[in-house]
Amino acid sequence: MRPPRADGALIATILLATLAGTGTASGQAAPVLCRHDITVLGAAATTLEIAVACDDGTLAGDLLPADPAAAAFITAQGVVDGRARFEVDLAAFATAAADYDRALRVGGSVLASPAAILPVPFDRRRAVELAITVTARDGAGIAIALPRGADGSYRLSARRIRDAGEWVFGKFTRLGIAQEGDMAVVILDGPLAESAANLQRWIADVAASNRRFWRRVPVVPAMTVILPVAGRDGIVFGRVMAAEGAVILLLLGEKARLPDLYEEWVLVHEFLHLGSPVMRDTGIWFNEGIATYFEPILRARAGWKTEEAVWREWLGHMTRGVPALTRSGLARTRQGYWGGALFLLLADVELRRRSAGRVGVEDCLAAALRAGGHIGVRWATRRMLDVCEGATGGLGVVDDLAARYLLQGGAFDLDALWRDLGVGVDADGSIRYEDAAPLAWVRRSIVWGGTGRAWAPIGTYRTP
Ligand SMILES: [Zn+2]
Repeated sequence: MRPPRADGALIATILLATLAGTGTASGQAAPVLCRHDITVLGAAATTLEIAVACDDGTLAGDLLPADPAAAAFITAQGVVDGRARFEVDLAAFATAAADYDRALRVGGSVLASPAAILPVPFDRRRAVELAITVTARDGAGIAIALPRGADGSYRLSARRIRDAGEWVFGKFTRLGIAQEGDMAVVILDGPLAESAANLQRWIADVAASNRRFWRRVPVVPAMTVILPVAGRDGIVFGRVMAAEGAVILLLLGEKARLPDLYEEWVLVHEFLHLGSPVMRDTGIWFNEGIATYFEPILRARAGWKTEEAVWREWLGHMTRGVPALTRSGLARTRQGYWGGALFLLLADVELRRRSAGRVGVEDCLAAALRAGGHIGVRWATRRMLDVCEGATGGLGVVDDLAARYLLQGGAFDLDALWRDLGVGVDADGSIRYEDAAPLAWVRRSIVWGGTGRAWAPIGTYRTP
């Protein structure tokens, strides 16, 4: 961060003298509240003016971005009317960083991470709550997915600022999906072959299939940001970030067209993440396993994938998760996606078998979300296992599997599982079912849930 200008430094010194006696509350005090008033200058958001006042009298010199990447582009301008003032050269920072983790310009729009651009108290021992207002002086658009306080300001705890999703400023297309808790759909300013209305329809269909699975809107507020990528086709990359609100970022090839997007897995995978708490004490396997295992199931239920294609995918890929179970254990694996998916398949089969088809893994996940476990919160793995057991009748299924495969490897035979389920793949790639297999009745409920459940297709796309 640049040093304060000479005119501001004098005022800062005076303020320091005034507040010296009041700003030393102990670590047990209520959270410090810092008000950030941000003004966006330029229709394409070239500059941000930020005024900060913390109710414990935190000084201008004690305010720094959590991510120091933008420090060279932030000028401290001293203290005016009791508020520390900063100017962020967003145009220069976005050009220099050129990175959606920090700041990135896309035509007339800018993505910016609050961790990089917001000066916050750097004393991490204190709980600090941020109350943020953002206004545009020159007509720039503003899109931020954070909950609002009673005064309308966005709220974010400073210790979660690195988890928070990107903010969008400048010129972009904004649409909404009312039935998803007013989820915002933001399309950045770049070339795309597909119309905004069609992209919104696709995202709304994915969100609807996800809401049906979770039995509620998983998290509010939430926003999906489409970042066009010139010269590319399909989905280039997707991810989700969440503090108290969630942001799905999707890098979309400019040539992508609607039918192909319904055949893509990425957005369905990212939406699935919205419904689970972040569990990192044993690695990524649980969160990534949920998204990896249920993604093809959701698409089959929506009419975008056949049941045979789901089994073909699993018969081809589940083997990649076997070493996570048999050698390292899930907590130490580098194959958390398929290791986690395999754990969930085993749990699903065993829950349905022991409950005579009454419950499956999706019942335990829905219960965890009902208990407040969405992507905006962190849980220990143990808490999720306990909620799972409680929601599925205490059958001991997930506890037993975790004891066998979480901290160390255990015996497991994938070919025997496929044989018991009565599913195999022929040399020509076609799926063969054996209805005389001992768990054939369980197999039928894996993709479709409890026996006899009917799923209305979603949207108008149907897989060929
Ligand atoms: Zn994922």
